[in-house]
This record gives sequence, structure tokens and C-alpha cells, in this order.
Amino acid sequence: MRTIVILLLSFAAYAQKTTCSYELAMEKQGLLEVTSNAPRVLVELKYATADNFMGRDVYGCLTHAYVQKPVLHMLNKAQASLEKKHPGYHLLIYDAARPLSIQWILWNTLTQYKPAERQKYVANPTQHSIHNYGSALDLTVADANGKPLDMGTKYDFFGDLAYPSKEKAMLAAGKLSEQAYKNRLILREAMQSAGFMRIEFEWWHFNAFSRAEAKRRFPVVQ
Ligand SMILES: [Zn+2]
Repeated sequence: MRTIVILLLSFAAYAQKTTCSYELAMEKQGLLEVTSNAPRVLVELKYATADNFMGRDVYGCLTHAYVQKPVLHMLNKAQASLEKKHPGYHLLIYDAARPLSIQWILWNTLTQYKPAERQKYVANPTQHSIHNYGSALDLTVADANGKPLDMGTKYDFFGDLAYPSKEKAMLAAGKLSEQAYKNRLILREAMQSAGFMRIEFEWWHFNAFSRAEAKRRFPVVQ
């Protein structure tokens, strides 16, 4: 029954053509929409809500997650790997392909950090983010009820506690709980088994390709 509902929902999503200029531009560039192509993966684009570090919706009509075709293939592999070990769990996407014009809004919002510090959290728009190539994902793991697991910090927490590179020290210092640490490993194991790469400063961010490779293979999403 559950499968039928998911299939019907994904068909409805597919049947409903987008009129959003950002989404139309991405479809024209060959990017694929996640919900209609990976129905087990959940999507809640945080920049399309007020629940983000800017406290406002900066995505407007962009409410669907888009990725490049090979990234979608990897994402389906990651979801399958997650479910095999943890039946009922879902990947939950917070951000996917991000237009360059919105990259500038993110960059210009974090004025409390000098550019050298700022680019730990938001890629410098002049260099482009791997999100701008539809080749990076921000995501977490949700349980069978769709509830996100405790990862120790919220999405877009700017600080040491979010750094994968400092997790063991944070765990030893009692700042990161054992459960949150284990939950991060569940996410990382699923993503890395599908070929995604983690980064140093954000537990939620994964790259399908290096910046150089993404740049060589795909145009920037404007
Ligand atoms: Zn990211």
C-alpha cells in the first residue's frame, strides 16, 4: 500500500510540469528532479522556507531538488544502501542544485565573517559552489516517520560542532553525543558507499565530484 502511495505521489509530481523559471532552466540544462526519479528520498529545501540561517525564503518558486543525471544515479544507490542496513530510513535533502544568483545572496548575508572564514560555510560565488553545478547535496537521515535523526547540530550550524574533522574531539569532550555521532556515521556510510565525498566543515554536505571535475562536465546553473 505504502509503495502504491509513493508511486502515485511521484507520478503526480512528474505529471505536474513546473512553471518556475529556475526549475525550467535546470531542466533545459539536463538536470533531473529528485522526487519523481528517486521517490524514496525525501526533500525539504530549507532555502525555500524561513527555517534557514537567513531566516527568510530565498528560493521563491524553486521548491524541488534538482541534480545532474549521474548524481541522481549515485543518490539512488545511497538510498538503497541506507535502507539495506536501516529499513525504513530515508535520506532527506535540504539543498541540491543552487542557482549562482542565489549563491550571491547567501554569500552577501554572512557579512559577520571575513571572506577567508566565510568560505568555510558558503563557497565564494566568484569560484562557484559545487551546488552551482548540480553536483553537491546537503542532506540528513530521517526515520520511517520522516523525522530527522539527531546529528548534534542543526543544518547550517556554523562552528566546530558541525565539523566532521573535529567529531572525535567533540565526542571525547562530551559536546557531541554518542548517538549523534553514530547517526552522522549512518549518513556518511550510505553516501560514501555510493561514491559521494564528505568535506571538512559540514556534516550535511557531500560532493559527487570535485569542483574541477564538475566544472569540466557541467555548465553553471544560473
Ligand atoms: Zn552544501
